[in-house]
Amino acid sequence: MLWTNECLYCHSFVYILSDGRVKCSKCSKKLSLEKINKVMLVINSYIDDESALSLSKRTKLSYTSIQKYYETLRILSAQICEQEYEHVRMIKCEYEEYYYLENTKKLKREAVFDAHNFLTFDYSKHIYTILMPSLQQYKKQFFQDSVEDGYIDEFNRFKRNSKIIKVDKHFNNIVSFWDYFEKAILKYKGVKNNSFIYFLKECEFKYNHTKNEAIELLVKEYFKEDK
Ligand SMILES: [Zn+2]
Repeated sequence: MLWTNECLYCHSFVYILSDGRVKCSKCSKKLSLEKINKVMLVINSYIDDESALSLSKRTKLSYTSIQKYYETLRILSAQICEQEYEHVRMIKCEYEEYYYLENTKKLKREAVFDAHNFLTFDYSKHIYTILMPSLQQYKKQFFQDSVEDGYIDEFNRFKRNSKIIKVDKHFNNIVSFWDYFEKAILKYKGVKNNSFIYFLKECEFKYNHTKNEAIELLVKEYFKEDK
């Protein structure tokens, strides 16, 4: 086991202290085994797509504390995605635009303003996403100016066109990421606007890695600095 024979911060040899904590021989950092085991448990469940509620019921750990861990893990996932992007960004890539609308909103004419629009890049099998700004802030102005009809018609044309492209296109990594994303978002009962970016990055992170890779990356990132 990684955490009982090497330091999670600097990978040096560790001692087990009589109070059950591990202490690094080089950087002298100490961690309790209980804390390490808790973090490992939460990371595993997060990667297995277990909900915070289900984990809290299964382990009797407080829901609020697990939710906080999950929030941290989502932020760390997003950070890893950005670090990985730095390594692939010079590779020639393909990209496609995608918009996401909750099913209940799909029939509304003005739904364009509620759509989450993002770009999906495929860097030789490594997916990267960029969330585009929400149109929500323009909604009121558009309806005041009565220019919405032309705009909404244009958007509906775009939707049809992009669907045709999507169907016609050969099965590729970008489409397969969208399929993954659409299945993943169904498990959430609505994603709030301001947390959408973290949900998207969580999908990107999980999609790009096997479970073991993802766990290892998160453990490294989590123990990089003191929290
Ligand atoms: Zn150390």
